[in-house]
Amino acid sequence: MIEFLGLFPDELKNVLEQMGEKAFRAKQVFSWLHKGAAFDEMSNLSLALREKLKNAGVDQPVSIQSVHESRLDGTKKFLFSLKDGNCIEGVLMRYHYGCTLCVSTQVGCRMGCLFCASTLDGCVRNLTAAEILGQVMCANSTLDGERVHNIVLMGSGEPFDNYENVIRFLKLVSHPDGLNISLRHISLSTCGLIDNIRRFADENLPVTLSLSLHAPNDEIRKKIMPIARRYNIHETIAACKYYLEKTGRRIVFEYALIDGVNADEKQAHELADLLRGMQCHVNLIPLNTVKERNLNGVSNKQVQAFLEVLEKRHISATRRREMGDDIEGACGQLRKKVLEEAGQ
Ligand code: SAH
Repeated sequence: MIEFLGLFPDELKNVLEQMGEKAFRAKQVFSWLHKGAAFDEMSNLSLALREKLKNAGVDQPVSIQSVHESRLDGTKKFLFSLKDGNCIEGVLMRYHYGCTLCVSTQVGCRMGCLFCASTLDGCVRNLTAAEILGQVMCANSTLDGERVHNIVLMGSGEPFDNYENVIRFLKLVSHPDGLNISLRHISLSTCGLIDNIRRFADENLPVTLSLSLHAPNDEIRKKIMPIARRYNIHETIAACKYYLEKTGRRIVFEYALIDGVNADEKQAHELADLLRGMQCHVNLIPLNTVKERNLNGVSNKQVQAFLEVLEKRHISATRRREMGDDIEGACGQLRKKVLEEAGQ
């Protein structure tokens, strides 16, 4: 079965020609699919062609299983279902400058970060480009008049562990005949697969790179992130500098503050030493407690103290706004809860 939403117009043209159809149909089908339409809704195609398409493959590979809306801030957490019965999560946040959707790139994750719920049951499989894009179609279908304006690849999964599909997704979602979302409005977050950071720099796509750092040295990082055993912190920072040089885009470092692990002022100073002189921004995130792990977040006072050290040391930093705290907003939490309730 062909996943039509994952094809570029040229590829779609080839498929349609093989079906005995005219090339100009490709643009029509592409544009319908990227509006979120099903084959049955493609009203300028003949019934016969719609039937042919249905027999050959899938139109929209993702559907909404449930939506949980936060009473606090209107954040929506989606549980999406895939054609093979797997489910994934996405989160839609409303900011004054528009809607931001957080998408998943894998079913589960195999990176094993200690504080992250996505990784508790390992990685089931990669998502296809169409399945990453389909999450955007679904979110758009719930918006009245508005559309998803920014995308963050920060849901379940490690984007650089699913490299080809992620690149295809980025090119599809920014395609002028499709959703046409600017790559400058997209952030990709990685735990630090440095070979692929370098490869991504060479693709020359103006996407913001976020790096999940979470520690100022290898000793602490190794305790909470298995990837730190493969690549040390200096190699990781060097790969980020390469990205910065190649793209001119500053790096965002994510730092989840975990009580008694990485949140003392001493570590704030160490972090400032590590990042000194680099064009970057630090996003401080008070850890979202995951009940399966014995790790806890920090108080507002601790966040403030950490932030003040960074500011004094001239490192640009902010505290990330927490949204959707009442709806299992953190990575992988909702899927985990739903699977547990279903007895899986
Ligand atoms: N695999 C990628 C993207 C997914 S996670 C990565 O590691 O960057 C998106 C961000 O949420 C990462 O910075 C991740 O470290 C962070 N995160 C995961 N679990 C969290 C939790 N319980 N509390 C706060 N941040 C968390």
